[in-house]
Amino acid sequence: MQTISKNITLNFNQKDVELAKEVITFARKKFPEIENYFEIKTFPVAINIWDDFDKFAKKMCEGGAKIGKHSSVVANASKDEDVIDVLTFEIYKTRPKHEKSTFEDFKKTILHEYVHLCHQKILLDKTKMPAFMMEGIATYLSKQNLLAKGVAKIDCSGADLMQNFYNTPNAYGYSGLVAEYLDKTKTHKQMLEILKEPHKVDANVLVQETNLFLQKNRVKNLKICDKSV
Ligand SMILES: [Zn+2]
Repeated sequence: MQTISKNITLNFNQKDVELAKEVITFARKKFPEIENYFEIKTFPVAINIWDDFDKFAKKMCEGGAKIGKHSSVVANASKDEDVIDVLTFEIYKTRPKHEKSTFEDFKKTILHEYVHLCHQKILLDKTKMPAFMMEGIATYLSKQNLLAKGVAKIDCSGADLMQNFYNTPNAYGYSGLVAEYLDKTKTHKQMLEILKEPHKVDANVLVQETNLFLQKNRVKNLKICDKSV
């Protein structure tokens, strides 16, 4: 089945009509916030909701991704076509690392993919996108952050993030902390300049600066707590 709502086209199976309604409501509300952040105009986007992991994986593999039977990949953004593919929430919850995910997490995943599409639009050189900057801003803007889970320190090196992102534990969360640090310490104009040319950042320096920033904020928060006791 297909639903078109303004610039968003949703493809889904008939039994997932309720899910589709929730997705479209969420997208209509949240996508404009991301467009505003990147200062871009709204654009046509398609969201495909897959109720079969094997079919989803097959499409991803055709697009060049490597997705095995036990992959934890639950969604993907095809940047050349402005398409988001995502599993139904029912299937999503059965995938490795997502067993405890809530419906909120599911929606954040869709938003994460949308950040990728928007980010792509402002890149000056589409061939130069370090994974940790791409995933960092998507994790941060979709509020999949680690701070909420009590993780307030990056426990890996800049080189790990830069050269071995997908094999580094917690890399998404850590890169989200880097993006949060940048967003909170730069002007929005500066932030957009960084996001336009993300390959120019120095990951080692950013990891150090982010950890200092997190430490300072932790101390500040502790002091505030002291005063109130
Ligand atoms: Zn991503």
